[in-house]
Amino acid sequence: MNGLPSPVFPELRLLDSYCSGSFVMFRVASKHRGISCPDCGQWTERVHSTYYRTVQDVPLCGIKVFLRIRVRKFFCDNPSCERKIIAEQFDDFICPSQRKTNRLNDVLLGIGYSLGGNPGVRLASLLGISVGKDTLLRKIKSCAVPEPQDSIDVVGIDDWAYRRGQRYGTIVCDLERHRLVDVLPDRTVTTVATWLKEHPSIRIVSRDRSSSYADAIRQGLPNATQVADRWHLLKNLGDAVERYFAAHQVPPREEPISEPAEQSLSAKALPTKKEQEQSHRREAKCELIQQVHELRHDGLGIRAIGRNMGLSRQTVRKYLSLTEPPQTTQRQSRKTLLDPYREKVIEMLSRDQTGPKILKQIREQGYKGSRSTLSQYLAELRRCMAQGQIPLPVRRHRVTPRSAAKLLITPDADVDDEDKPYLAKLLAEVEHAQVVQTLARSFKELMDRHDSQGLEGWLKNALGCGVREIRSFAEGIQQDFSAVAAGFLGPWSNGQVEGQVNRLKTLKRQMYGRAGFTLLRARVLHRA
Ligand SMILES: [Zn+2]
Repeated sequence: MNGLPSPVFPELRLLDSYCSGSFVMFRVASKHRGISCPDCGQWTERVHSTYYRTVQDVPLCGIKVFLRIRVRKFFCDNPSCERKIIAEQFDDFICPSQRKTNRLNDVLLGIGYSLGGNPGVRLASLLGISVGKDTLLRKIKSCAVPEPQDSIDVVGIDDWAYRRGQRYGTIVCDLERHRLVDVLPDRTVTTVATWLKEHPSIRIVSRDRSSSYADAIRQGLPNATQVADRWHLLKNLGDAVERYFAAHQVPPREEPISEPAEQSLSAKALPTKKEQEQSHRREAKCELIQQVHELRHDGLGIRAIGRNMGLSRQTVRKYLSLTEPPQTTQRQSRKTLLDPYREKVIEMLSRDQTGPKILKQIREQGYKGSRSTLSQYLAELRRCMAQGQIPLPVRRHRVTPRSAAKLLITPDADVDDEDKPYLAKLLAEVEHAQVVQTLARSFKELMDRHDSQGLEGWLKNALGCGVREIRSFAEGIQQDFSAVAAGFLGPWSNGQVEGQVNRLKTLKRQMYGRAGFTLLRARVLHRA
């Protein structure tokens, strides 16, 4: 064991060691015979007293390690020195009043930054380090976050939801170095402006379209160029088109095969054998009544008609009192056990599935009826389909304003073939869709071409286009014109900020939202 810790702590020598089941204790002392007085610099070896100090060190094979350090106090023998007593310090590996070595603290900080409170405590315990959650978190919070060394030139700022809809923070990224610079606890003008003032090297700030960031930049860095972020501009455009569709009726999207359209089978339900007999009897009766009327018309009496037709006089009288043939009662749509599976059956039939397969399928879905009921049903269905009475089933999808907007804005070359018929339908059926499409696409094209001069012409068209949602989008552009033009021209965009926000959210989720902002900021910046 002799000399074991010395490669790591060259100032110490090992006196002895003690090993219990749960920990190892190394008794160590300074290698030097004396020390220099920190005030006057005079060397002294005259010991005043000795005491022991116990600190925890990094574990050994999962076993806790303690160092029991013999600390000496010396006299300063320089008569002109104010200081009389000097205690030994071991600043290289342990700070005064700390109960853990610096290298153990570094390990704990690493664990804390990566895992946060409780998971960090669990990992530490597995490794053989005992630490409480509060201690771990305190260590992270108290650790100073290093300021970036190089001066920042171009930043992107954006907000992120600390708690969605309730609390938002601000994230600042160095757009040149693709690095997170800082997170701020809120998105108020004061906070952001103050932060910007402290970073006067910033020349360009890319931001979303909110007026609060615009104000903050004006206050904090009045000379900085504001850039309306392209990503946000496109998002605003998409939102405007979505609002336009929300204000209009978006037609449903139809896809063949699945659900029958309006003409459902139950409206023209298939007659059963019994119903067929009933209908025959009804026809026969109508004929009978007609004959009774004809005989009466020929001048026969009631009794004679009765004898002739084999009817009672009462029945003949009743039939004669009817001025028109009895109404064949409109058959109500018949409920069958197959009703719940109708769509499935039609869909399978249209895919040329056989009866037994269909039976198997719907039995799995809970059909309790017999095989013959299904066969009759299928026979009738096939007949109706052959006669074109049942149109090929069509599925109608409700299309959200959002996806309609997305489709409308997509450049022609990028529209999928299967989307083309629906896009044509949108353009044909929704009022002004053509105008909205032209304006939205040309906005995007101007942006792609970095054409900020074309923007003015676009604005004129959009302001006069007669579609409220597009007009108000254009008005917003007009008010923020210089920043938007800068966004069109320049290379800067907040695209990468989005990624940083996602990283931030992952960290935040790991912390279950319980840890405060300081801790979150410490961990985020440590990672950056
Ligand atoms: Zn001294």
